[in-house]
Amino acid sequence: MPERSDMPLSPTATRELLEQLEHFPKKKLGQNFLVDGNIVRKSIELAELGVDSCVVEIGPGLGTLTQAILNSGASLWAVERDATLTEHLRIHFSDELNTLPTMTGRSPEGQPILKLTEGDCLDYPIAGLPEAIAVTGYKIVANLPYAVSTPWMDAVIAGELPERMVLMLQKEAGDRYAAPHGSKTFGAISIFLQSVFEVHSKHLVSAQCFHPAPKVDSVLLRLDRRTDAIRFSQTARECIRRIFTQRRKQLGALCKNDPQAGALVWFNELLEHGVHPTVRPEELPIEHWQSITRFIN
Ligand code: SAM
Repeated sequence: MPERSDMPLSPTATRELLEQLEHFPKKKLGQNFLVDGNIVRKSIELAELGVDSCVVEIGPGLGTLTQAILNSGASLWAVERDATLTEHLRIHFSDELNTLPTMTGRSPEGQPILKLTEGDCLDYPIAGLPEAIAVTGYKIVANLPYAVSTPWMDAVIAGELPERMVLMLQKEAGDRYAAPHGSKTFGAISIFLQSVFEVHSKHLVSAQCFHPAPKVDSVLLRLDRRTDAIRFSQTARECIRRIFTQRRKQLGALCKNDPQAGALVWFNELLEHGVHPTVRPEELPIEHWQSITRFIN
């Protein structure tokens, strides 16, 4: 497989390539392309990829991270929604795309492969990576389209979990994912995510690392799957989400009025464990939220 440079295109070269493709970055698809080599290197370093890694990338765009992932020797499954960018990627990576993977995620000759799907990451949360390969372990490395990061994260949490994720996110989303109880940003996604992943590192990333520069702050997160991961059923997730839509109210009143009878049984048990009767949703520690799984499944 030809080895190409890990370096992203400079802002000027990115502009030139976009002009050549006659493509204007689409704001609603979060098309802010990486133009900073240090961030690309940092993402690959945090992911700790090797020749036996299977990786999922969401929104490969112009292919900057894609190239760096492939150069690490990993096999890659990617999903891109934009038709023009998908076409560009198909031409740019034509050698890697021509290979069919075996069940180990490599080509029959043992080479890394690239599978590219044109579609929505909410329909393909792990980019079409076959279940049989996902269960043997995989990682996600992505500069996410910010508008869909939370519904996409919900879908990932509901499926076969990756061992590690290295994600570029809007800072505000990263703050919510990693929020401790008692903070204003603590919510349903903090509970679901922290029950299955540990947030290992969080790096602020300047808007100048992207072209065009986004108006929001960004953060690079490394998340590792917990060995003691606790999953919530869909019914329990819906109940917790409902509760957090009224986060200013007392938890007892919310559970009493919740359509799920198990919510009140759970709250009464919390009281027996010394939880204060006037507690509000954002004040309750994660381990107490996790105990809801014994009452609502
Ligand atoms: N990976 C590239 C990079 O780092 O330069 C591009 C990242 S850009 C922040 C987000 C990418 O996700 C864009 O290429 C965009 O077209 C794509 N995208 C947006 N919404 C998507 C969706 N729902 N499903 C799949 N890809 C999506």
